[in-house]
Order: sequence, then structure tokens, then C-alpha cells
Amino acid sequence: MTETTTATTSSTAATAARAFGAQAPDAQLAALEIERRALGPKDVRIDIKYCGICHSDIHFTRGEWGKVPYPAIPGHEIAGVVAAVGSEVTEFSAGDRVGVGCMVNSCRECENCAKGDEQYCIPGNTQTYGSTDRDGTVTYGGYSDHVVVDQDFVLRIPDGLELDAAAPLLCAGITTYSPLRHWGAGPGTRVAIVGLGGLGHMAVKIATAMGAEVTVLSQTLNKKDDGLKLGADAYFATSDDATFDELAGTFDLIINTVSASLEIGKFLGLLKTDGALVNVGAPPEPLPVPVFQLLLQRRTFAGSAIGSIRETQEMLDFCAEHGIAAEIEVIDASQINDAWERVLKSDVRYRFVIDNSTL
Ligand code: NAP
Ligand code: ZN
Ligand code: ZN
Repeated sequence: MTETTTATTSSTAATAARAFGAQAPDAQLAALEIERRALGPKDVRIDIKYCGICHSDIHFTRGEWGKVPYPAIPGHEIAGVVAAVGSEVTEFSAGDRVGVGCMVNSCRECENCAKGDEQYCIPGNTQTYGSTDRDGTVTYGGYSDHVVVDQDFVLRIPDGLELDAAAPLLCAGITTYSPLRHWGAGPGTRVAIVGLGGLGHMAVKIATAMGAEVTVLSQTLNKKDDGLKLGADAYFATSDDATFDELAGTFDLIINTVSASLEIGKFLGLLKTDGALVNVGAPPEPLPVPVFQLLLQRRTFAGSAIGSIRETQEMLDFCAEHGIAAEIEVIDASQINDAWERVLKSDVRYRFVIDNSTL
């Protein structure tokens, strides 16, 4: 561990990292050792203190989205402290509180990178895990004791945020903040959040802080008290057909955070004329869209992926300013497999966060 806690600008050797990951789609996660690249001139080496568990970690590691370069080391809600910086790093120094989200590189040349939308990099951004980085190595995520990341993809965690509760902001926070901003959530808008899990509970907090009127659409009323405490104005069960009659045509914006396929036409019917339903949930199977629900009221069905680095910093600063962070259950490494099973059963309140000192 000493190499990760000593500030240096000259360390050039690759480092061995303790990690937790899977060797096959149906395997339990277990401890293993991986290698982190040598610190390049523009790299930052981060001691990972906490890492959130995102449902994407499960989709990816179990091969639901496609072929996986095993071993898979998931984790893209990383919060930690800078241990060392490369010789040309200007933005960070040892001891800084930092975060890393879902991407660690991009081409930096395409139209989208040029305008600061590197999450939509046209040849594809480099994801924090399971991607081939521009040096040809496969990326490994935050279920690990340290990581080496180019300074341009490192975020600053404001002092007002605790590292453990801030970790989930790096994915769940930005993935909901970005479409809420893009589609104009704010005073005078009615916003519905579908699914009260990791992303959903952040969406409720952020949309409320933006000044929107917020409704939760959950499978049942089991979490109603929590939803209202998080800031929602109303809470309905989607298992009750009356919900769809009562709320027909009432929302400007719906953010769907559900990890499974939904009957999307029923939800489109809840939009006003010109309203938008934005899918951030990423189930592997297609969602059939009944087009009459769109064209008769000029409604939009859209998608959104995380957010840019600039926007992620803006979101972290917004959360610090509004005193918002995730509702978390901090777990040890030995509890990761059980936590995944609980996520799959929608039994999460509202984000599991790994204490990386236990890896
Ligand atoms: P999560 O914590 O498991 O939350 C998902 C919620 O969806 C559950 O809590 C549950 O809410 C609801 N749900 C689950 N299964 C359902 C079903 N069969 N029918 C109806 N509702 C169901 O997951 P998460 O970490 O928030 O991630 C949600 C999704 O977003 C995942 O697919 C993930 O891969 C994706 N994601 C996308 C991006 C992006 O950039 N677009 C980024 C991060 C994550 P209730 O109990 O309230 O019904
Ligand atoms: Zn995620
Ligand atoms: Zn690009």
C-alpha cells in the first residue's frame, strides 16, 4: 500500500492492485490481483476509498450487454484521494479528494469531444471497465484498491460532500442530472421518475433541488414514505392500472431508470403534448414503442448516457451546494455478492457502497 499513499512525480513502474471481480458470466465475484499501468506524465494515481454498486456492474459482468474481456472488475462510482501525479499533471496534487465515473478516456478529436460531450465520443469513449484503452490495455474498474486515470477524466469532490455518499454521484448522479438539465426540469415542470433504485432516488433528489414538481412511479407503494422524504410530491404504484388513468397526459418529462423492459406505451400515455420520456435504464432487450402514443401528441421517446466531464463537475458542485448526496449502505468486500442479489430483487435503499479498505 505504501506506493499508493506516497506522493511522487517520478514513479514509472506498473503497480499490483487488490481487486474484486468475476472470471465468467455465472461466477461469484472473488478477490484477485490485477496490474495498473505505470503513472504516465498526465496520469493521476488514486487510492480508492469507496465505490458504489451500479446495476450496470451486474448487466456488464454477467455478459448481458455483450462479450466481456474476463476477468471483469466492475465499479464506476469511484471516490478516493490522490496518491501520486505524473510530471505534467497541473490540475491535481497528492491528498486531493477526487472521483472517477463511467469513462476514463475518449478520442479527443471528434465533433462531440471537441464540444465537450466526450460521453458521446463518436468512435466511442473508453469506459472505466471492460474497454480497450488507447494504449491497448483493458480497463478495470473501482472494485479495487487503486486506479490510474488521465487527469482530464478525474473529478474534484467538493469539501461539503462525504466521500462514501458522493461515490454514487459519479454515475447515478450524473446519469439523472444530465437529462433533467437537458430537458429543462425546473420550476413549473412536472417530472416523473420511474423506478426508485440507485438512479431513481438521485433523480428525485436532483429534480426536487432543481425546483420541479416530482412524482415517483414505483412498482408498489412499499417505499412511499422514503420517496416523499427524498422530496417527491407524489408517489404512485405502477402495479395499479388506475395510476395510468389518473395520471394520463400530466407530465412534461419522465425519466425511466428501470433496469428491465417496461410496457413503454403505458408510460408514454402519461406525457403531455410535446412531453419527453427519457430512457436511462439499460435493459438488454428491445423496448417496443407504440408509435401512435408518440405522433398523436408530438411526444418524444429519447435516451441519455451519463454526462460529460464538465457536466459531471457541475453536478458535483450542484449537489454540494444543495446538500445532496446518495442514501447509502456501506458494505465490506465480503458482502458484494449478496448486495448484487439484493439489487436484482429491487431490495436496495438506495445504493450499496463498498468500503474499499476491506478488499
Ligand atoms: P437499481 O438500483 O436496481 O434500480 C432499478 C429500479 O427499477 C428498481 O429499484 C426498481 O424500482 C425498478 N425495477 C427493477 N426491476 C423492475 C421490473 N422488472 N419492472 C419494473 N420496475 C423494475 O438500478 P440502477 O443502478 O439505478 O440502474 C438502473 C438502470 O440504469 C440499469 O439498467 C443500469 O444499467 C442503467 N444505467 C444507465 C446509465 C446510462 O448512462 N444511461 C447509467 C447508469 C445506469 P421500484 O422498486 O421502485 O419499482
Ligand atoms: Zn453506473
Ligand atoms: Zn471523440
